[in-house]
Amino acid sequence: MQTDSLIIGGGIAGLWCARELSRLGLCATVVEKAPILGGHVQGYCCKATDTCQRCGACLLEEALADVQGSDSVTCLVRSEVLQLERANGGFAIKVLTKPERVDAQLEELSIETRSLVLATGFKPFDPTEKPRFGHGRISGVMTALELDELLRNGAFAKLRRGRDIHSVAFIQCVGSRDAKLGRNYCSRVCCGYAMRLARLLRSRFSDMQTAMFYMDLQTFDRDFEKRIQEAAREVRLVRAIPSEVRIGTGGRPELIYEGTGDVRVAEEHDLVVLSVGIHPNPAIASLVNQMGIRLNEDGFVGHGAEDVNTGIEGVFVAGTAQGPKSIADSVSHAMRAAGQVAAFLDRSGGRP
Ligand SMILES: Cc1cc2nc3c(=O)[nH]c(=O)nc-3n(C[C@H](O)[C@H](O)[C@H](O)COP(=O)(O)OP(=O)(O)OC[C@H]3O[C@@H](n4cnc5c(N)ncnc54)[C@H](O)[C@@H]3O)c2cc1C
Ligand code: SF4
Ligand code: SF4
Repeated sequence: MQTDSLIIGGGIAGLWCARELSRLGLCATVVEKAPILGGHVQGYCCKATDTCQRCGACLLEEALADVQGSDSVTCLVRSEVLQLERANGGFAIKVLTKPERVDAQLEELSIETRSLVLATGFKPFDPTEKPRFGHGRISGVMTALELDELLRNGAFAKLRRGRDIHSVAFIQCVGSRDAKLGRNYCSRVCCGYAMRLARLLRSRFSDMQTAMFYMDLQTFDRDFEKRIQEAAREVRLVRAIPSEVRIGTGGRPELIYEGTGDVRVAEEHDLVVLSVGIHPNPAIASLVNQMGIRLNEDGFVGHGAEDVNTGIEGVFVAGTAQGPKSIADSVSHAMRAAGQVAAFLDRSGGRP
């Protein structure tokens, strides 16, 4: 099989890259290891209250519809790159596909391509690396992604009745901006995510009290200042350094933080939600080694802040594989990567 570009990763970045390549008249093959396309975004619930909160998740449906209806895009799910080598001025790749039925045989496919796009995404920070916040140890402590899942599948309402949940505290920057972990960067998305979740909880349950404990608020989005002001009407914003979550006297999680004037405060909540950040995907180590790509100091692919180049001819990067990004930024980055693929193929004589 031949293709103009092989995209590794079928999350929002990989799909938008494929969509853009198809729009530019090129063929793309997406290799996705999961059984379904969409990456992390397919797991997010709609955060609309009485109005859309512009979380960006709808951008997935748009790409899925276009890619699945396109003759020039092939998506291989449950698939991974087994072997990758330089051949005929491009790449010869072996892809292994797991069958849907467990008793069927693995399928191996040989693909020739002139260009590759790494769209392998990120890994959410593992909260057990910060044991002092009690995840997995204290009942009533969960990550923002786990709360999102409960809201999406309807289980939160049941949990709320069972545990009588009326107050929810979000701890920001868990696993990001953390020199001890060697993660000094801001994950760029978790402030907006926590605010949307807090506002969604308030809109679904009118007696719900929400608070966000933050050291700093990110300001990358265009209208962020306005959104903070809007959120502050519904969410208690507390500038603080959270130090620990322990079991309070009432059996609920108790958050300990240093507030203004270095005062140590203890506060019980029904639920404590950890805003875990974006970490590099460690599972791509062997893939980047095979390609000869050097990772940057934070463990992401790519050189400059928003660069789509990897330093290796014919190999590009799209989305959060390159560094923390929102959905909208991942989409525009992926479209830029597709543009660079097209320019590279033009320069180097087109298809294999
Ligand atoms: C807690 C949290 C909340 C967030 N909330 C928001 C939000 O509300 N709004 C927003 O704009 N952004 C949000 N983001 C960011 C958003 O999730 C990312 O911008 C988006 O998922 C990036 O898409 P991606 O395609 O780069 O990566 P991913 O979503 O990680 O997709 C990568 C895909 O590649 C596949 N893959 C990985 N390795 C391989 C391999 N070797 N072979 C084949 N396939 C592979 C994976 O299975 C996955 O499907 C949030 C991030 C976090 C951590
Ligand atoms: S952008 Fe997000 S909040 Fe708005 S409708 Fe789409 S999924 Fe819902
Ligand atoms: S986006 Fe907010 S919570 Fe996430 S690392 Fe940056 S400042 Fe911290």
